Amino acid sequence: MQGLEALANLAAAGKPTRLLYIAHDHLNFDHGVLKTADPNTDALVLVESQRMIAGRPWHKERLFFLLSSARHFVAEAEARGFTVRYIQAPTTIDGLKAARAEFGDLPIQCAEPSSFRQYQHLKDFGVEFVENDLFLTTRRLFDLWAQKQKSFVMENFYRAQRVRLGILVNNGEPEGGRWNYDAENRLPPPKNYTWPAYLTHERDAIDAAVAAQLGHEPTDAWATTRVGAQRQLANFIDHHLAGFGPYEDAVAADNWALHHSLLSPYLNNGLLHASEVVAAVVDAYRAGRAPIESVEAFLRQVIGWREYINGMYWFLGEDYRNLNRLNADRKLLPLFNDSSKTQMNCVRSVVADVEARAWTHHIPRLMILSNLALVTGTNPQQFLDWMREQFIDAAEWVMVPNIIGMATHADGGLLMTKPYAAGGAYLSRMTQHCKSCVYDPKKRVGTDACPFTTLYWDFLERHKDTFVKNHRMSQQVFGLKRLSDLPELQERAQEVLAGLDAGTI
Ligand code: SF4
Repeated sequence: MQGLEALANLAAAGKPTRLLYIAHDHLNFDHGVLKTADPNTDALVLVESQRMIAGRPWHKERLFFLLSSARHFVAEAEARGFTVRYIQAPTTIDGLKAARAEFGDLPIQCAEPSSFRQYQHLKDFGVEFVENDLFLTTRRLFDLWAQKQKSFVMENFYRAQRVRLGILVNNGEPEGGRWNYDAENRLPPPKNYTWPAYLTHERDAIDAAVAAQLGHEPTDAWATTRVGAQRQLANFIDHHLAGFGPYEDAVAADNWALHHSLLSPYLNNGLLHASEVVAAVVDAYRAGRAPIESVEAFLRQVIGWREYINGMYWFLGEDYRNLNRLNADRKLLPLFNDSSKTQMNCVRSVVADVEARAWTHHIPRLMILSNLALVTGTNPQQFLDWMREQFIDAAEWVMVPNIIGMATHADGGLLMTKPYAAGGAYLSRMTQHCKSCVYDPKKRVGTDACPFTTLYWDFLERHKDTFVKNHRMSQQVFGLKRLSDLPELQERAQEVLAGLDAGTI
């Protein structure tokens, strides 16, 4: 690398003395490495690696969003006077080598990357990291919290966050008198309800170029600029925040977004920062535009869950990704890659939503897709890869703890004290899909039995020795004793599993 004197000479000649590598999920001028950037001394480098595009069967809507957002960001950086290189190369490191070939052997800096793998690759190449403040909680701070915990209960972390960040807290007590409004926020989908219109995003020339490169017809659901992301935030505050809480767990048949914010893609690629989203929500509450149960529920997602999951990803370490404590070895079901390969109405509808927009909200993710992977004994790593490839807001830090810990219980309970397994009764209450389904959510045996109901009991039976020791599961395991038709149910479960493998159930 160039010495100090050489760098001083470059600066005197008006040439860059530092290369700032901007990852596709660090698109923010006020945070990360750009916080201290100076157009007079820093050149920005973004790399579109071949591996990023073709390394895995990524959903094209996801790729479109990430690439187009990055290219819009480049245009914005140039408008701010930066020298920017958007380099297409086989790998990120090849791209950085190309930048050094042009600018000289300059120091390269970037914000701490969002996966163990990228962290190691960049470190090995000599890239220097600055603290990643695209989250509200630094990795060091989370580590301090986690080291003191006996079990990693998100609720405890969330309350500590409220106090630490001073969000709707007076003298250490929560505004409204309670920390948690989950009890108010479990309503089923409303009947005869008019959902607000979806916000749409127009496409421009940069979008068109990316779409042509990918051979993809993008939807109008996602913004690819900061201005568009800010519009989405304003739309959420104006039309959805008040109704968010009560219906946050509902799954409607006539609306794919309900009152969800649709902000996670922008929070996760940097176009929005959690602090501005939180400020907008708190302002709306202060102005009397949303009730505490909705405001609390949303803040819980942003300052609680999102930060907790990121913190746990780094705290649990790289090997956590490979855990498979329930020994689940079924191959990924064909329905995950083709919604026509199932007759299960809820699953078909949710997979079709993912096919269309690379997104569904947290309940279809957890209680339909993940629940199915869990009760069928699908290999957690195969399911993780699928979730990682398909969702527009997916990243290693978010999908690894969510899938290995929360969704498939493959960590044996390190993160969550019980598996999120459910039968048709729950789905019939919280979704609008059962009425027009060929299966009956109340039945557990017979050819028209709901596969979720059959497989839920079969899952409990298969793992009863493990779960009977879990105080949050023992009651359900004891429920097996009341099933007079258990042998018949187990036989039906084998038929269901074979049918799911064949794409006929
Ligand atoms: Fe899904 Fe079962 Fe309801 Fe059909 S009956 S929609 S498979 S939960």
